[in-house]
Amino acid sequence: MSGIRTPIVCLLGHVDHGKTTTLDKIRGSAVAEREAGAITQHIGATEVPLDIISKVSGDLVKKDKFKVPGLLFIDTPGHHAFTSLRSRGGSLADIAVLLVDVTDGFQPQTHEAIDILQDFQTPFIVAANKIDKIPGWKTNKKDVPFRLSYKNQEKRVKEDLDNRIYEIVGKLHDKGFNSDRYDRLKNFKDNVGVVPVSAKTGEGIPDLLMVLIGLAQRYLETELEFEEEGPGEGTVLEVKEEKGLGKTLDVILYDGLMKTGDSVLIGRADEPVETKIRALLKPNPMEEIRESGSEFSKVDEVRAAAGIKVAAPDLGSVRAGFPIRVIGDRDTDSLKEEMKSQVEDVVIRTEESGIIVKADTIGSLEAVIKDLEDSDISIRRADIGSVSRRDIIEANTIQEPLERAILAFDVDILPEARKKAEKEGIQIFNDDVIYRLIEDYQEWIDRRKKLQK
Ligand code: GDP
Repeated sequence: MSGIRTPIVCLLGHVDHGKTTTLDKIRGSAVAEREAGAITQHIGATEVPLDIISKVSGDLVKKDKFKVPGLLFIDTPGHHAFTSLRSRGGSLADIAVLLVDVTDGFQPQTHEAIDILQDFQTPFIVAANKIDKIPGWKTNKKDVPFRLSYKNQEKRVKEDLDNRIYEIVGKLHDKGFNSDRYDRLKNFKDNVGVVPVSAKTGEGIPDLLMVLIGLAQRYLETELEFEEEGPGEGTVLEVKEEKGLGKTLDVILYDGLMKTGDSVLIGRADEPVETKIRALLKPNPMEEIRESGSEFSKVDEVRAAAGIKVAAPDLGSVRAGFPIRVIGDRDTDSLKEEMKSQVEDVVIRTEESGIIVKADTIGSLEAVIKDLEDSDISIRRADIGSVSRRDIIEANTIQEPLERAILAFDVDILPEARKKAEKEGIQIFNDDVIYRLIEDYQEWIDRRKKLQK
């Protein structure tokens, strides 16, 4: 049987523009609707069901008109989460929210986020945040956290907000997007809606949820269709040691069904790990943790999209970013081949900091990684294929000057990547001999260190 799954949403934006606060508020406003099941507990994600969105939007979102069951927000905000968590080649997120502080405007990471969204062709909306900081803004306490109310605002304050919004709209135009304030847009298809919000007071948050649901419903319906009984597919968010459970995986399931006892393959560069799910765990609500002391409860099965903790043996070599697939009645060997050949999926993410490594084959990639590890050089991400614009964009998010580098082993550097690297000051090393590649990088580090002295 096929159905419509919950769209996965990720928050991006410049540091301090309010990603974390917005996520907290979304959780909070859903929780504020004090009904059982108001908010569904997940691992690494928060689900806001459609009836809550319908309620907080003052029935603007009519429940029976929408097929999308709700929205699943990934709890880790930022570019790094967005780019490193892949589904099949694309990003894990179906939709994104770009946070822009209206009192600060576009900043370097705002531009970066848009570049990334453009690269991944991810539909997005803009949350124009911190409207409560606009001089003279009056928060209507009665309305909060309900819909955005302009009615309390004087003409001058409204104009001030509109000007700030138009500045954002203008910047989006420069980047090649049609855009307008969300309530003036007829469709969100080729337009980026800008929603004024205050993550602090909660104003506009329901509007934001409403626009997201509308976007998901209208334009993603086909992409959100899934086989409810199909073999589960997900991405590993985190590998965690849990008391009494050993090594566990926090997984976002983006397709199909996952059951306790299922055999799964978890991607690794050489050969995926094969293991069997011992338990699927959901977090317990706070009161229950207080009463019973147990943080999780077991579930027999889970359907996409969802965040779930997976307990299984032999997880030693599994890392964040790896794909996880239920084998089902498929042939294990061909599934292994399929996972191996999905080069985009074979992302070895090792650390938050470090350089980016690219290579032509899985074998050479592993050889380069081993040599780099022997030389104590940390690797942020390693994968197969040409050096692309996407790699440069990621390297450009790195603050440490000595790590703003890409080591490319015997692969092409795409012209637009080279151009962007020059513009952003990202160093690309390219060679077909591993030790020379590493030596070149080390010499560059030494030179830069000398210069700093
Ligand atoms: P992030 O780095 O994008 O996750 O930003 P945070 O959510 O951590 O927010 C950075 C700072 O801005 C924090 O001190 C927040 O309390 C504050 N902040 C976030 N949203 C708002 C808002 O809507 N209004 C006001 N006045 N402050 C906000």
